[in-house]
Amino acid sequence: MNFLLVGRPNVGKSSIFNILIGQKTNIIHINEGTTRDWHKEKINLISNTFIYDSPGIILQKNKEETKKIKRIIESLIFKIDCLLFVIDFQSTQNTSDTIIHKWLRSFNKEIILIINKHDHNNKNVNTDFYNFGIHNIFFLSCTQKLGFDKLRKYLNEGITYQARKDKNIDNQKFDYSIAIFGKPNSGKSTFLNTLLGYERSLTSIKAGTTSDYVIENFIYKSKNINIFDTAGIGRKSKIDSKGIDYLSIQKSLRIIKKVQSTIVLIDSLK
Ligand code: GDP
Ligand code: MG
Repeated sequence: MNFLLVGRPNVGKSSIFNILIGQKTNIIHINEGTTRDWHKEKINLISNTFIYDSPGIILQKNKEETKKIKRIIESLIFKIDCLLFVIDFQSTQNTSDTIIHKWLRSFNKEIILIINKHDHNNKNVNTDFYNFGIHNIFFLSCTQKLGFDKLRKYLNEGITYQARKDKNIDNQKFDYSIAIFGKPNSGKSTFLNTLLGYERSLTSIKAGTTSDYVIENFIYKSKNINIFDTAGIGRKSKIDSKGIDYLSIQKSLRIIKKVQSTIVLIDSLK
């Protein structure tokens, strides 16, 4: 079973992702739109069940960016059994949510509404979210870890898809593992996308779009290959040790120990 967290930036998708997988691997940041790539992890303690985190859908600012993010989500949808549409309890009257929901409905997948930031001390009593007409609603607070028991129970039992039985991804074994390294903007993500044949990593002419690493696997000559696209690593002197890139780089460097070989990509034009 595969579940996809989707919604506006900053509603808490990555926070929910981290709690469900039981560890802190993804990046949460107070700046909007910090998750630029998608992530997949096994849900802790539920067998054969995976959760995907997706970049927040920004509708107003930049049309190209919106298209790009939508394309990433569309490329994932075929693997997904159920969409976890996340909204913020503190701003339920957001027209973007209505537009996003309409778009999600076009995929004809089961949609669960997750209302996050439903913190203890929150006095908000509005009930607009019923307007979505979504039957399954879960209230969560990531900061206070509320509502997760119910959600987990649902993810574990509530869905009667055949898929759970059919899939045995848990036991997947890899024959070979590779990581792609290089300076920001050297073409790592484009290289990965070309190799895979579909848009796996967000590529951009702006340096540093992969804010965290991404993992994918593909079959080549009957071998199951695991490949990592890492955060671009620039000159040491240019890295701000308090910035988000620093965390991403640290994590990316740790991958070296996990893989059998690495590719270092160099921009021949520079
Ligand atoms: P994403 O963009 O949807 O992935 O959102 P993040 O998970 O990165 O969270 C955005 C911000 O909301 C961060 O500052 C989180 O600490 C905060 N946040 C997440 N969940 C909650 C919650 O349940 N209650 C409150 N008050 N803040 C939260
Ligand atoms: Mg995020």
